[in-house]
Amino acid sequence: RATTLGAGPIQFFRATDDEAAVRRHALERDLASALANNQLSLAFQPFLDLGSDRIRGFEALLRWRHPTLGAIQPSEFIPIAEDIGLIHDIGHWAIKSACLAAAQWPCDLRVAVNLSVVQLKNKALLDGILTALSDAGLEPKRLEVEVTESVLISNFEDAIALLQSLSFLSVTVALDDFGTGYSSLTYLRKLPLSRLKIDRSFVQDMLTDLDCAAIVRSLVALAHELRIDVTAEGVETLEQLEYLRRVRCDEAQGYLIGKPVPIDDIPALLRGRLVRNDALE
Ligand code: C2E
Ligand code: MG
Ligand code: MG
Ligand code: MG
Repeated sequence: RATTLGAGPIQFFRATDDEAAVRRHALERDLASALANNQLSLAFQPFLDLGSDRIRGFEALLRWRHPTLGAIQPSEFIPIAEDIGLIHDIGHWAIKSACLAAAQWPCDLRVAVNLSVVQLKNKALLDGILTALSDAGLEPKRLEVEVTESVLISNFEDAIALLQSLSFLSVTVALDDFGTGYSSLTYLRKLPLSRLKIDRSFVQDMLTDLDCAAIVRSLVALAHELRIDVTAEGVETLEQLEYLRRVRCDEAQGYLIGKPVPIDDIPALLRGRLVRNDALE
């Protein structure tokens, strides 16, 4: 700790690095048993259809409650899981749990699961997904996988092959966080995409930045020309929702519509239709 190493900027920085290393080491060690110890869960965040004002499904997002460190963000533990090879088990658990959850919902609702680059390289992934679907008795068309552009850069040909197999089986594919990475129009052309998810950063700025608004508007139009649906991520205000409706965006997701919730809250959320009913008015 910083205090035991004494004062001074050099020691301070070294101590901070040490603390980060100690935390990282602890997370690596504890993540290995997190699944077995029931510390992982899924939170579900709704998608709102802007044409019908109905919830069309939920995205499953991993949560880790560490016994002493509390809630650990996916942005911290997923890269660790990828580095130490645990992402395959954790990812499979997430897919399996998401399919079991969705099998309990009304059958017009889909569930979306995120896949990381490391998972897409795994030859066992396709079988894992098919097993999860059949064990849950979930129709493949009700499962969507979300991949980011980074998934594609490192392993384009294999990734396309896998996504094509999934799409052939009626699992749909969404391109997540669109616009943030090395966005290439090649992805829109070569991937079997059903959906493009416009990254939160564009949604955040589109009402104050005319260029950003133009990008969002044009992305929706471009995707529609290619018969791809568009979901806007990170919608936090009614004004943003209104703009998205106006430019014919298909779906919205974000804190305005609903934060990620535990699985047990879903029935109530569906009965009330929305966490925030004012998002509809
Ligand atoms: P993502 O797939 O782009 O998920 C959206 C993230 O934005 C989630 O963060 C969500 O809680 C957050 N979010 C949603 N609406 C709003 C909003 O209105 N405002 C703000 N500020 N944030 C919003 P989360 O849950 O921390 O997940 C972060 C990332 O971790 C995800 O980004 C996804 O890439 C990854 N991840 C989560 N679960 C899984 C998983 O099961 N497998 C894999 N491979 N990655 C996962
Ligand atoms: Mg996602
Ligand atoms: Mg996203
Ligand atoms: Mg995003």
